[in-house]
Amino acid sequence: MIYLDHQATTPIDPIVLAEMTSVSERQFANPGSPHRAGVAVAALIDKARGVVARFLGARKSEIYFTSGATEANNLAIKGVANRRRGHVVTTAVEHKSVLDCCAFLGVEGYDVTVLPVDGEGRVSARQVAESLRADTALVSVMLANNEVSTIQPIAEIGRVTRHAGVPFHCDATQGAGYVDIDVDELGVDLLSMSGHKIYGPKGVGVLYVSDDLTGRMDLVPLCHGGGQERGLRAGTLNTAGIVGLGAAVELLAEHRTEESRRLAGLRAVFLDELSHLVDFELNSGTGPGFLPHAVSLSLTGVDAQWLLASLTDVAVSTGSACNSASEEPSYVLTALGLSPERIMGSIRVSVGRFTGRDEVVRAARLVAAATGHDSRERPAA
Ligand code: PLP
Repeated sequence: MIYLDHQATTPIDPIVLAEMTSVSERQFANPGSPHRAGVAVAALIDKARGVVARFLGARKSEIYFTSGATEANNLAIKGVANRRRGHVVTTAVEHKSVLDCCAFLGVEGYDVTVLPVDGEGRVSARQVAESLRADTALVSVMLANNEVSTIQPIAEIGRVTRHAGVPFHCDATQGAGYVDIDVDELGVDLLSMSGHKIYGPKGVGVLYVSDDLTGRMDLVPLCHGGGQERGLRAGTLNTAGIVGLGAAVELLAEHRTEESRRLAGLRAVFLDELSHLVDFELNSGTGPGFLPHAVSLSLTGVDAQWLLASLTDVAVSTGSACNSASEEPSYVLTALGLSPERIMGSIRVSVGRFTGRDEVVRAARLVAAATGHDSRERPAA
């Protein structure tokens, strides 16, 4: 199987796995326990917290471990909105874990503004500025999109929200592996990340919350209990997951720039090979305003669901994995203004750390060959 679906999830890096295995085998004590074994585990968690904090240009006291980005997004949005009431601003292309939180707040009586995006999937700082009201409790805009890879102008939006004194949350789940993050430069008050998008484990994530924000207001926790994570996220900490996340972040910090260049090269090889074999249109850009490792494209006259069902040796997707059970056309591509036919033919391809040149060439040939299936030959979806 040629795995080209790194926006859905990444494999665990063997270095990360070795650290997690060692911790799981040997350091099982509860980090909240006062005995020596517990204190040793707490030190491992503290080290990982420091690594993540450095990576984000934050303080250790601003890092909260969660079960993933979905929880981090829920905690950020509901946690802040709960205290402030009023109005929430987001965009039409956010991940469902943001959009559904905002929809939930809408049902609870908040006003929610969902900003439209341009043809590249981008929102402008000006749109955000124009949407703000005296009672705006929170703005939430993602760093990079999980279907069309668009990088949003977070620093510009951050200047607008800082000036207005409105808390700003950024879902950095897809961007963290590729875009430099400094929370102060970006002007964000809250930022989410996930382990399994950066060659770390599933089921662990991070919410950064600035000390300044926690000094100004109490965030409401989603989980009450043992008071872990300074009362914001109760529950015994996932030691192996957190150590794995820390190791994954350390690897990212070391290799991100040269790796991004290599991945952009592989994506170019894939697109070049495919362009000699079939007709397609790009739905995402391949320049500086987009993630380097991923592309969304529409194969002319092809039903992508059928294509995927017949592509047994290549893993690509038709859109967000978290949404792929849905029969609805992609809301992200719809927000870009693409026609239903073009959305129906769209696939998302993303290369990764362990992808080789031969694999992308073979994958392009297999994708092209699969488009040759006519409806009588198509396997059951
Ligand atoms: N946000 C974005 C942009 C994502 O792509 C994803 C996962 O696909 C999530 C949030 C959810 O992350 P997790 O799987 O860690 O809950």
